[in-house]
Amino acid sequence: MQVPFVDLKAQYRALEGEIVPAVTAVMERGDFIMGRALEEFESAFAELIGTRYCFGVASGTDALHLALCAAGIGAGDEVLVPANTYIATALAVSEAGARPVLVDVRPDTFNMDPEQLDGALSERTRAVLPVHLYGQPADMAAIGAFAERHGLQIIEDACQAHAAVRDGTRCGAFGRLGTFSFYPGKNLGAYGDGGAITTDDAEAAERIPMLRNYGQKVKYEHLMRGGNSRLDTLQAAILNVKLKHLEDWSRARFAHAVRYTELLGDVDEVGLPAFDASAPLSHVFHLFVIRVPQRDALLAFLKERDVSCGIHYPIPIHLQPAYADLGYAPGAFPVTEQAAGEILSLPMFAELTDAQIAYAAESIKAFFAKG
Ligand SMILES: *Cc1c(COP(=O)(O)O)cnc(C)c1O
Repeated sequence: MQVPFVDLKAQYRALEGEIVPAVTAVMERGDFIMGRALEEFESAFAELIGTRYCFGVASGTDALHLALCAAGIGAGDEVLVPANTYIATALAVSEAGARPVLVDVRPDTFNMDPEQLDGALSERTRAVLPVHLYGQPADMAAIGAFAERHGLQIIEDACQAHAAVRDGTRCGAFGRLGTFSFYPGKNLGAYGDGGAITTDDAEAAERIPMLRNYGQKVKYEHLMRGGNSRLDTLQAAILNVKLKHLEDWSRARFAHAVRYTELLGDVDEVGLPAFDASAPLSHVFHLFVIRVPQRDALLAFLKERDVSCGIHYPIPIHLQPAYADLGYAPGAFPVTEQAAGEILSLPMFAELTDAQIAYAAESIKAFFAKG
Protein backbone atom coordinates (compact mmCIF):
# COMPACT_ATOMS: atom_id res chain seq x y z
CA MET A 1 0.00 0.00 0.00
CA GLN A 2 1.15 3.51 -0.88
CA VAL A 3 -0.45 6.63 0.53
CA PRO A 4 0.61 9.80 -1.29
CA PHE A 5 0.30 13.13 0.48
CA VAL A 6 -1.86 14.50 -2.35
CA ASP A 7 -2.78 12.91 -5.69
CA LEU A 8 -3.42 15.50 -8.40
CA LYS A 9 -3.29 12.84 -11.11
CA ALA A 10 -6.22 10.92 -9.60
CA GLN A 11 -8.28 14.11 -9.66
CA TYR A 12 -7.33 14.86 -13.26
CA ARG A 13 -8.27 11.36 -14.40
CA ALA A 14 -11.73 11.84 -12.88
CA LEU A 15 -12.20 15.26 -14.56
CA GLU A 16 -10.43 14.76 -17.88
CA GLY A 17 -13.67 14.61 -19.86
CA GLU A 18 -14.67 18.06 -18.60
CA ILE A 19 -11.27 19.77 -18.50
CA VAL A 20 -10.06 18.99 -22.00
CA PRO A 21 -13.07 20.56 -23.79
CA ALA A 22 -12.97 23.61 -21.47
CA VAL A 23 -9.29 24.22 -22.27
CA THR A 24 -9.82 23.56 -25.99
CA ALA A 25 -12.65 26.12 -26.07
CA VAL A 26 -10.31 28.84 -24.77
CA MET A 27 -7.68 27.99 -27.38
CA GLU A 28 -10.28 28.08 -30.12
CA ARG A 29 -11.59 31.45 -28.95
CA GLY A 30 -8.05 32.75 -28.46
CA ASP A 31 -9.09 35.03 -25.56
CA PHE A 32 -6.11 34.08 -23.39
CA ILE A 33 -5.93 37.28 -21.32
CA MET A 34 -9.04 38.56 -19.50
CA GLY A 35 -11.25 36.23 -21.55
CA ARG A 36 -14.75 34.88 -21.15
CA ALA A 37 -13.86 32.00 -18.83
CA LEU A 38 -12.23 34.47 -16.42
CA GLU A 39 -15.42 36.53 -16.18
CA GLU A 40 -17.44 33.35 -15.67
CA PHE A 41 -15.13 32.21 -12.94
CA GLU A 42 -15.09 35.57 -11.17
CA SER A 43 -18.87 35.73 -10.95
CA ALA A 44 -19.22 32.08 -9.89
CA PHE A 45 -16.56 32.44 -7.19
CA ALA A 46 -18.04 35.71 -5.87
CA GLU A 47 -21.41 33.96 -5.65
CA LEU A 48 -19.92 31.02 -3.74
CA ILE A 49 -18.11 33.24 -1.23
CA GLY A 50 -21.04 35.62 -0.94
CA THR A 51 -19.30 38.85 -1.97
CA ARG A 52 -20.27 41.37 -4.67
CA TYR A 53 -16.91 41.20 -6.40
CA CYS A 54 -14.17 38.72 -7.20
CA PHE A 55 -11.01 39.48 -9.18
CA GLY A 56 -8.69 36.80 -10.49
CA VAL A 57 -4.98 37.51 -10.05
CA ALA A 58 -1.74 35.66 -10.72
CA SER A 59 -1.24 33.94 -7.33
CA GLY A 60 -2.29 33.90 -3.70
CA THR A 61 0.75 35.99 -2.79
CA ASP A 62 -0.28 38.60 -5.36
CA ALA A 63 -3.88 38.47 -4.07
CA LEU A 64 -2.56 39.40 -0.62
CA HIS A 65 -0.20 42.05 -1.97
CA LEU A 66 -2.81 43.72 -4.19
CA ALA A 67 -5.48 43.53 -1.49
CA LEU A 68 -3.13 45.38 0.89
CA CYS A 69 -2.41 47.99 -1.81
CA ALA A 70 -6.12 48.37 -2.57
CA ALA A 71 -6.69 48.96 1.15
CA GLY A 72 -4.11 51.75 1.05
CA ILE A 73 -1.55 49.95 3.21
CA GLY A 74 2.10 50.72 2.56
CA ALA A 75 5.29 52.25 3.94
CA GLY A 76 5.18 53.07 7.64
CA ASP A 77 2.17 50.84 8.32
CA GLU A 78 2.04 47.70 10.46
CA VAL A 79 -0.12 44.67 9.78
CA LEU A 80 -0.85 41.98 12.38
CA VAL A 81 -0.09 38.51 10.99
CA PRO A 82 -0.20 35.12 12.78
CA ALA A 83 3.26 33.79 13.63
CA ASN A 84 2.23 30.33 12.41
CA THR A 85 1.41 30.57 8.71
CA TYR A 86 3.00 30.05 5.35
CA ILE A 87 5.62 32.78 4.91
CA ALA A 88 3.78 34.22 1.87
CA THR A 89 1.33 35.94 4.24
CA ALA A 90 4.16 38.01 5.72
CA LEU A 91 6.02 38.41 2.41
CA ALA A 92 2.98 40.08 0.85
CA VAL A 93 2.91 42.63 3.68
CA SER A 94 6.61 43.35 3.10
CA GLU A 95 6.04 43.61 -0.64
CA ALA A 96 3.38 46.25 -0.01
CA GLY A 97 6.06 48.21 1.86
CA ALA A 98 4.51 47.64 5.30
CA ARG A 99 5.84 45.74 8.31
CA PRO A 100 4.41 42.37 9.38
CA VAL A 101 3.95 42.26 13.17
CA LEU A 102 3.58 38.69 14.33
CA VAL A 103 0.99 37.39 16.78
CA ASP A 104 1.16 33.95 18.41
CA VAL A 105 -1.51 31.32 17.75
CA ARG A 106 -3.85 29.20 19.83
CA PRO A 107 -2.48 25.77 20.78
CA ASP A 108 -5.73 23.98 19.83
CA THR A 109 -6.48 25.40 16.34
CA PHE A 110 -3.06 26.92 15.44
CA ASN A 111 -5.00 30.02 14.31
CA MET A 112 -4.27 33.62 15.38
CA ASP A 113 -4.92 34.01 19.11
CA PRO A 114 -7.23 37.02 19.62
CA GLU A 115 -5.91 37.37 23.19
CA GLN A 116 -2.43 38.18 21.86
CA LEU A 117 -3.61 41.01 19.59
CA ASP A 118 -3.53 43.80 22.18
CA GLY A 119 0.15 43.19 22.89
CA ALA A 120 1.04 43.58 19.19
CA LEU A 121 -0.87 46.81 18.65
CA SER A 122 1.02 50.09 18.04
CA GLU A 123 0.30 53.59 16.73
CA ARG A 124 1.20 52.34 13.28
CA THR A 125 -1.10 49.30 13.16
CA ARG A 126 -3.47 49.63 10.21
CA ALA A 127 -4.81 46.14 9.55
CA VAL A 128 -5.24 42.61 10.86
CA LEU A 129 -4.49 39.75 8.48
CA PRO A 130 -5.93 36.54 9.96
CA VAL A 131 -5.16 33.26 8.17
CA HIS A 132 -7.77 30.49 8.11
CA LEU A 133 -5.03 27.96 8.62
CA TYR A 134 -5.33 24.34 7.44
CA GLY A 135 -8.88 25.15 6.23
CA GLN A 136 -10.38 26.14 9.59
CA PRO A 137 -11.85 29.64 9.98
CA ALA A 138 -10.03 31.85 12.48
CA ASP A 139 -11.99 33.31 15.41
CA MET A 140 -13.49 36.12 13.33
CA ALA A 141 -15.94 37.28 16.00
CA ALA A 142 -13.11 38.12 18.41
CA ILE A 143 -10.76 39.40 15.69
CA GLY A 144 -13.58 41.51 14.21
CA ALA A 145 -14.37 43.04 17.61
CA PHE A 146 -10.69 43.90 18.15
CA ALA A 147 -10.41 45.48 14.68
CA GLU A 148 -13.59 47.48 15.25
CA ARG A 149 -12.35 48.73 18.63
CA HIS A 150 -9.11 50.02 17.14
CA GLY A 151 -10.33 51.15 13.71
CA LEU A 152 -8.31 48.53 11.80
CA GLN A 153 -9.10 46.96 8.47
CA ILE A 154 -9.38 43.20 8.10
CA ILE A 155 -7.83 41.43 5.15
CA GLU A 156 -8.25 37.65 5.24
CA ASP A 157 -5.80 35.05 4.02
CA ALA A 158 -8.23 32.34 2.88
CA CYS A 159 -5.60 30.63 0.70
CA GLN A 160 -6.22 27.32 2.54
CA ALA A 161 -9.93 27.76 3.23
CA HIS A 162 -11.96 27.77 -0.01
CA ALA A 163 -15.66 27.43 0.88
CA ALA A 164 -15.12 27.05 4.65
CA VAL A 165 -17.95 28.58 6.72
CA ARG A 166 -18.15 30.05 10.21
CA ASP A 167 -21.36 31.43 11.72
CA GLY A 168 -23.00 31.40 8.28
CA THR A 169 -20.22 33.43 6.59
CA ARG A 170 -17.69 32.02 4.17
CA CYS A 171 -14.00 32.67 4.63
CA GLY A 172 -13.13 35.55 2.31
CA ALA A 173 -16.35 37.41 3.15
CA PHE A 174 -15.58 38.44 6.75
CA GLY A 175 -13.10 41.25 6.15
CA ARG A 176 -12.88 44.22 3.83
CA LEU A 177 -10.95 41.97 1.47
CA GLY A 178 -10.49 38.20 1.16
CA THR A 179 -7.63 36.48 -0.65
CA PHE A 180 -7.33 33.03 -2.21
CA SER A 181 -4.65 30.90 -3.83
CA PHE A 182 -5.29 28.40 -6.62
CA TYR A 183 -1.84 26.81 -6.42
CA PRO A 184 -2.32 23.24 -7.75
CA GLY A 185 -2.27 21.56 -4.33
CA LYS A 186 -4.85 23.88 -2.74
CA ASN A 187 -8.45 22.67 -2.20
CA LEU A 188 -9.37 24.50 -5.41
CA GLY A 189 -6.26 24.30 -7.56
CA ALA A 190 -5.41 25.46 -11.08
CA TYR A 191 -2.83 23.77 -13.32
CA GLY A 192 -0.30 26.46 -12.54
CA ASP A 193 -0.35 29.57 -10.35
CA GLY A 194 -3.48 31.58 -9.70
CA GLY A 195 -5.29 33.58 -7.05
CA ALA A 196 -8.30 35.79 -6.37
CA ILE A 197 -9.49 38.68 -4.22
CA THR A 198 -13.08 38.84 -2.94
CA THR A 199 -14.73 41.99 -1.59
CA ASP A 200 -17.96 43.93 -1.15
CA ASP A 201 -16.08 47.22 -1.09
CA ALA A 202 -16.77 49.44 -4.10
CA GLU A 203 -13.59 51.51 -3.66
CA ALA A 204 -11.36 48.43 -3.57
CA ALA A 205 -13.30 47.05 -6.53
CA GLU A 206 -12.31 50.19 -8.49
CA ARG A 207 -8.64 49.81 -7.64
CA ILE A 208 -7.96 46.07 -7.94
CA PRO A 209 -8.67 45.78 -11.69
CA MET A 210 -6.18 48.61 -12.26
CA LEU A 211 -3.59 47.23 -9.84
CA ARG A 212 -3.55 43.90 -11.68
CA ASN A 213 -3.54 45.41 -15.18
CA TYR A 214 -0.86 48.16 -15.52
CA GLY A 215 -3.02 50.74 -13.79
CA GLN A 216 -5.43 51.00 -16.71
CA LYS A 217 -9.20 50.86 -16.92
CA VAL A 218 -9.29 51.66 -20.60
CA LYS A 219 -6.43 50.33 -22.72
CA TYR A 220 -3.43 52.71 -22.87
CA GLU A 221 -4.88 55.12 -20.30
CA HIS A 222 -2.92 54.60 -17.09
CA LEU A 223 -4.59 56.13 -14.05
CA MET A 224 -2.13 54.67 -11.56
CA ARG A 225 1.05 52.61 -11.48
CA GLY A 226 -0.26 49.07 -11.49
CA GLY A 227 1.51 45.81 -12.28
CA ASN A 228 0.76 42.73 -14.34
CA SER A 229 -1.00 40.15 -12.20
CA ARG A 230 -3.90 38.55 -14.05
CA LEU A 231 -5.40 35.09 -13.78
CA ASP A 232 -4.94 33.34 -17.14
CA THR A 233 -8.16 32.55 -19.00
CA LEU A 234 -6.90 28.97 -19.41
CA GLN A 235 -6.53 28.61 -15.64
CA ALA A 236 -9.96 30.17 -15.13
CA ALA A 237 -11.47 27.62 -17.54
CA ILE A 238 -9.95 24.80 -15.46
CA LEU A 239 -11.14 26.41 -12.25
CA ASN A 240 -14.69 26.72 -13.65
CA VAL A 241 -14.77 22.95 -14.09
CA LYS A 242 -13.30 22.28 -10.65
CA LEU A 243 -15.46 24.81 -8.81
CA LYS A 244 -18.54 22.65 -9.46
CA HIS A 245 -16.88 19.84 -7.49
CA LEU A 246 -15.49 21.92 -4.63
CA GLU A 247 -18.30 21.35 -2.18
CA ASP A 248 -18.26 17.56 -2.76
CA TRP A 249 -14.49 17.53 -2.33
CA SER A 250 -14.73 19.56 0.86
CA ARG A 251 -17.28 17.12 2.27
CA ALA A 252 -15.05 14.19 1.29
CA ARG A 253 -12.07 15.79 3.07
CA PHE A 254 -14.22 16.37 6.14
CA ALA A 255 -15.38 12.72 6.13
CA HIS A 256 -11.73 11.61 5.89
CA ALA A 257 -10.89 13.83 8.89
CA VAL A 258 -13.74 12.29 10.89
CA ARG A 259 -12.44 8.82 9.94
CA TYR A 260 -8.85 9.63 10.97
CA THR A 261 -10.21 10.98 14.26
CA GLU A 262 -12.16 7.77 14.94
CA LEU A 263 -9.18 5.57 14.14
CA LEU A 264 -6.63 7.60 16.13
CA GLY A 265 -8.88 8.63 19.02
CA ASP A 266 -7.48 5.99 21.36
CA VAL A 267 -3.81 6.71 20.70
CA ASP A 268 -2.82 8.79 23.72
CA GLU A 269 0.35 10.18 22.16
CA VAL A 270 -1.52 11.74 19.21
CA GLY A 271 -3.05 15.22 19.53
CA LEU A 272 -5.92 15.50 17.04
CA PRO A 273 -7.29 18.63 15.34
CA ALA A 274 -9.98 20.49 17.30
CA PHE A 275 -13.11 20.69 15.13
CA ASP A 276 -16.86 20.16 15.26
CA ALA A 277 -17.44 16.72 13.71
CA SER A 278 -21.16 17.51 13.30
CA ALA A 279 -20.56 20.61 11.12
CA PRO A 280 -19.19 19.81 7.65
CA LEU A 281 -17.55 22.87 6.00
CA SER A 282 -16.75 24.37 9.42
CA HIS A 283 -13.30 23.08 8.48
CA VAL A 284 -12.38 22.20 4.88
CA PHE A 285 -9.23 20.30 5.85
CA HIS A 286 -6.72 21.63 3.39
CA LEU A 287 -4.43 19.82 5.82
CA PHE A 288 -5.08 17.25 8.55
CA VAL A 289 -2.52 18.13 11.19
CA ILE A 290 -1.79 16.00 14.23
CA ARG A 291 0.66 16.82 16.96
CA VAL A 292 3.12 14.33 18.45
CA PRO A 293 6.22 14.96 20.56
CA GLN A 294 8.16 12.23 18.67
CA ARG A 295 7.33 13.87 15.34
CA ASP A 296 10.60 13.37 13.42
CA ALA A 297 10.84 9.68 14.32
CA LEU A 298 7.20 9.13 13.37
CA LEU A 299 7.68 10.98 10.07
CA ALA A 300 10.63 8.73 9.19
CA PHE A 301 8.72 5.58 10.23
CA LEU A 302 5.72 6.54 8.07
CA LYS A 303 7.98 7.29 5.12
CA GLU A 304 9.41 3.77 5.37
CA ARG A 305 5.86 2.44 5.18
CA ASP A 306 5.10 4.60 2.11
CA VAL A 307 2.81 6.98 3.95
CA SER A 308 3.82 10.47 2.76
CA CYS A 309 3.40 13.27 5.28
CA GLY A 310 4.40 16.92 5.52
CA ILE A 311 5.19 19.63 8.08
CA HIS A 312 3.32 22.93 7.83
CA TYR A 313 5.54 24.65 8.79
CA PRO A 314 8.89 23.46 10.13
CA ILE A 315 10.57 26.88 10.69
CA PRO A 316 8.48 29.78 12.03
CA ILE A 317 8.64 33.04 10.10
CA HIS A 318 10.44 34.96 12.85
CA LEU A 319 13.28 32.39 12.84
CA GLN A 320 13.77 32.56 9.07
CA PRO A 321 16.87 34.40 7.78
CA ALA A 322 14.57 36.40 5.49
CA TYR A 323 13.02 38.03 8.56
CA ALA A 324 16.05 38.35 10.82
CA ASP A 325 15.63 42.14 10.60
CA LEU A 326 12.25 42.03 12.37
CA GLY A 327 14.33 41.45 15.49
CA TYR A 328 12.34 38.66 17.13
CA ALA A 329 14.37 36.33 19.36
CA PRO A 330 13.82 32.57 19.71
CA GLY A 331 11.10 32.16 22.35
CA ALA A 332 9.14 35.22 21.14
CA PHE A 333 6.21 33.02 20.04
CA PRO A 334 6.26 29.94 22.27
CA VAL A 335 3.07 28.29 20.96
CA THR A 336 4.20 28.57 17.34
CA GLU A 337 7.73 27.41 18.18
CA GLN A 338 6.57 24.36 20.10
CA ALA A 339 4.11 23.48 17.33
CA ALA A 340 6.86 23.64 14.69
CA GLY A 341 8.59 20.71 16.38
CA GLU A 342 5.46 18.60 16.90
CA ILE A 343 3.05 19.04 14.01
CA LEU A 344 2.64 16.46 11.27
CA SER A 345 0.31 16.74 8.27
CA LEU A 346 -1.18 13.36 7.29
CA PRO A 347 -2.20 12.48 3.72
CA MET A 348 -5.34 14.45 2.86
CA PHE A 349 -7.14 14.86 -0.47
CA ALA A 350 -10.69 14.16 -1.63
CA GLU A 351 -9.84 10.95 -3.52
CA LEU A 352 -8.14 9.32 -0.50
CA THR A 353 -9.65 5.84 0.04
CA ASP A 354 -10.87 4.26 3.28
CA ALA A 355 -8.18 1.62 2.89
CA GLN A 356 -5.47 4.30 2.61
CA ILE A 357 -6.74 6.09 5.72
CA ALA A 358 -6.89 2.80 7.63
CA TYR A 359 -3.34 1.93 6.56
CA ALA A 360 -2.00 5.35 7.56
CA ALA A 361 -3.73 5.11 10.96
CA GLU A 362 -2.52 1.51 11.51
CA SER A 363 1.00 2.63 10.69
CA ILE A 364 0.82 5.38 13.32
CA LYS A 365 -0.46 2.86 15.86
CA ALA A 366 2.35 0.45 14.95
CA PHE A 367 4.89 3.19 15.61
CA PHE A 368 3.61 3.81 19.14
CA ALA A 369 3.11 0.08 19.86
CA LYS A 370 6.78 -0.61 19.15
CA GLY A 371 7.65 2.10 21.71
C1 LIG B 1 -0.52 28.97 -0.51
C2 LIG B 1 -0.61 30.07 0.46
C3 LIG B 1 -0.29 31.39 0.13
C4 LIG B 1 0.35 31.78 -1.17
O1 LIG B 1 -0.33 31.40 -2.31
P1 LIG B 1 0.47 31.23 -3.70
O2 LIG B 1 -0.64 31.05 -4.70
O3 LIG B 1 1.34 30.05 -3.58
O4 LIG B 1 1.21 32.50 -3.95
C5 LIG B 1 -0.48 32.37 1.08
N1 LIG B 1 -0.94 32.07 2.30
C6 LIG B 1 -1.23 30.81 2.66
C7 LIG B 1 -1.75 30.54 4.04
C8 LIG B 1 -1.07 29.76 1.76
O5 LIG B 1 -1.33 28.51 2.15
